[in-house]
Amino acid sequence: MTPAHANADDERWMDEALALAREAGRRGEVPVGAVVVMDGVALGRGGNAPIAASDPTAHAEIAALRDAGFALGNYRLPGSTLYVTLEPCAMCAGAIMHARVARLVFGARDPKTGACGSVVDLFAEPRLNQHTATHAGVRAGECGALLSAFFAARRERD
Ligand SMILES: [Zn+2]
Repeated sequence: MTPAHANADDERWMDEALALAREAGRRGEVPVGAVVVMDGVALGRGGNAPIAASDPTAHAEIAALRDAGFALGNYRLPGSTLYVTLEPCAMCAGAIMHARVARLVFGARDPKTGACGSVVDLFAEPRLNQHTATHAGVRAGECGALLSAFFAARRERD
């Protein structure tokens, strides 16, 4: 993983991603949220929605990238930062690379499917990634607690 330095605005934008994650949780989806920011403006927002959309690709990052690409009229988002509450999976890591996102900032680690160091680190592979620096652990406690509470409640219902 190429480390990116923390920015003063990281926590504020992660709060916005957390709000989108909570919304996803209220819809019964695994609570993950993402925001794409460019020049201090939120260009794209997304919440996890694979159940509602019957779509395995409907992860928060994909939704936020689509939203941002549409807003910008460009499938490439150079200079952007993507904030997401959970470490991206391999699919989302690929999409982030295709979009040429400059910085990826995530909250909690995902020991089961994380592709930014937990299971594999696709961003550390120079043959794949020349564009995206990554920064882990912003509001990690809150991001992780949201997921833990969701899965605990679901286990209780089952
Ligand atoms: Zn994903």
